[in-house]
Amino acid sequence: MIRREAMRDLLELSFDELVRLLSAWGEPSYRARQVWEWVWNHLETDFARMTSLPQGLRERLAGEFQVGVPQAVAAQTDGEGTEKVLLSLGDGQAVEAVLIREEDRRTVCVSTQVGCPVGCPFCATGQAGFVRDLAPGEIAAQVLHFARELRASGERVSHVVVMGMGEPLLNYDATLRALRNLNDRRGFALGARRITLSTVGVVPGIRRLAGEGLQLNLAVSLHAPDDALRRELVPLAAKWPLGEVLAAADLYAAATGRRVSYEYVLLAGVNDTPTHARALARLLRGRLAHVNLIPFNPAPGLPYRRPSDRDVDAFRRTLVEGGVDATVRRSRGVEIGAACGQLRGARIRGATGSPPGPGQGGRPARSPGPQRGQPASGSERGGSPRAGRAPATGPRWRSERAASPPGASTLGPSTGEATP
Ligand code: SAH
Ligand code: SF4
Repeated sequence: MIRREAMRDLLELSFDELVRLLSAWGEPSYRARQVWEWVWNHLETDFARMTSLPQGLRERLAGEFQVGVPQAVAAQTDGEGTEKVLLSLGDGQAVEAVLIREEDRRTVCVSTQVGCPVGCPFCATGQAGFVRDLAPGEIAAQVLHFARELRASGERVSHVVVMGMGEPLLNYDATLRALRNLNDRRGFALGARRITLSTVGVVPGIRRLAGEGLQLNLAVSLHAPDDALRRELVPLAAKWPLGEVLAAADLYAAATGRRVSYEYVLLAGVNDTPTHARALARLLRGRLAHVNLIPFNPAPGLPYRRPSDRDVDAFRRTLVEGGVDATVRRSRGVEIGAACGQLRGARIRGATGSPPGPGQGGRPARSPGPQRGQPASGSERGGSPRAGRAPATGPRWRSERAASPPGASTLGPSTGEATP
């Protein structure tokens, strides 16, 4: 993102704030709507080109604001329509965003943090630590980046999934502000039902979300049918046990009328046996729920294996026979590490030549993430990229710029595709 210091990002203002600002500047009330349309509808970034505005207003806006424009510093495509970009932020950090083209859907997966403080041991982002929260404009700008690209071919972003790097409910205000701005009918107008937010189970955040009056799709990352196993796979589970997570999700379903999706990463030999499937079915039966099974997406340094297609299908069938609706998310773009974060990791490893990480296979004795759900600080967990293997390979790798982003130090999580 090109960021001129001391410039505010216009993407961070809500419509009402823009109205108040322009009114304080003595502008007529319709100007806010015009500016909003330029930014969120025409996707204009240059105030000089906002030709329906008087020259003086354009200059004043340009003197105080910028429209955050992400700079793609690397990109990968799987050749079938899935594209992943590494977007550079103003302070030298970088995050990934992914565009997934499927039939009539154009889904953008966004990141909400640089790194993630939760530290799930199967997740590349979680293993590399937390750097910082993204600002609302930095979240929305990821969507606008692909919206501009799609517009060139007469297409639009049809869905957004908040499934990239980071835990959105640990960056609640910025995430909600970005989603509300994208949802605003006067501009980008992306329906709330076309937005899916994935959380690892931050109970107060889910409860708060239920009161927002927004019909977002909620996806809850479960990954285990009992607390003991879940604590190994999701360090935050020590703080919010399954019973509390499910109660909060039930509240969300009741408040919004939306079916909750439960995500379940299938890790061979860890959480993918018929016993796990039956226990999961018992847990979710009778709820307004749907299970999204995500076969583990390998990334360098992550000590898990992806189950066979047969085992994945057997798990799904056991759930369905147990009365729970379930689908398998066949991650497109596995070849490009369609998991958000792997691109970033690859560049960092390539740039730093950091030492090799732990091998693949086997199961970690315990989760290396922060304990008792306390997000670790960047200084504790930032800094040391774990893996030093070959970069995530991709059939089409192109580097948009020669230089790697300075200061970037983490790997990333996974996104699949699929909104419910
Ligand atoms: N922090 C949020 C959202 C980002 S992760 C969350 O955890 O829900 C989005 C999804 O990708 C989560 O369901 C997460 O469990 C999954 N994921 C992370 N690493 C993965 C991997 N290596 N393979 C498959 N899915 C992964
Ligand atoms: Fe964070 Fe989600 Fe990765 Fe866990 S899976 S470390 S919560 S991004």
